[in-house]
Amino acid sequence: MKKIIIATKNKGKTKEFKNLFRKLSGNYKVLTLNELSDSPEIIENGHSFIENATIKAQKIFQKYGQITIADDSGLVVDALGGRPGIYSARYASNHNDQANLKKVIEEIIPIPQDKRTAHFVTALVTIGPQGKMTNTGQVNGILLDKPLGNNGFGYDPIFYYPPLEKTFAQMSENEKNQVSHRGKAMKKLFTAWPLYLKGEMNENINL
Ligand code: IMP
Repeated sequence: MKKIIIATKNKGKTKEFKNLFRKLSGNYKVLTLNELSDSPEIIENGHSFIENATIKAQKIFQKYGQITIADDSGLVVDALGGRPGIYSARYASNHNDQANLKKVIEEIIPIPQDKRTAHFVTALVTIGPQGKMTNTGQVNGILLDKPLGNNGFGYDPIFYYPPLEKTFAQMSENEKNQVSHRGKAMKKLFTAWPLYLKGEMNENINL
């Protein structure tokens, strides 16, 4: 069976990716870095979501030689000058969702409610023998200063999505995937997938 590696260890993302990939045609076994032994250490020192996703995908593809999809994503808060942005996973403390959420809540409390606009961004970079493909997705919302809901991960409990009148943490996984940044980027990836496999989406980077 062909393998696809998702270059993440994040449990929340892993769950979303595995469910999304069930819909992908073809028989792919989807593995994450948690299921691979001695996965290399990755230093995310890029300056954008796309740069960081490219760094991750390149490193994993070089090591395992299998099609690799890397996601770099985060929350961009307008009134905070775009923070936490590419630092979303380590804003207060590395990969500590609760501490990161608390820091953003503290920072938005002084901001008037009508200025609490934010968006989630995902950059998906696929690198394989066929070359490189980039797909992005974005979703706009409003930040709450009190968490609502128990689903999801990261900043989901404060990310209020006006069209459905609930936070991402109040949505089922399926509902979130329909509207989320990652869901949108994945839809683009799925649409392009047959062309990517034929080598027709290659962005021609040096691997
Ligand atoms: P990355 O693993 O470097 O891409 O960091 C992503 C970080 O952004 C996560 O640790 C979360 O804090 C945040 N994030 C990304 N996507 C989501 C989401 O769908 N919901 C909530 N937080 C998210």
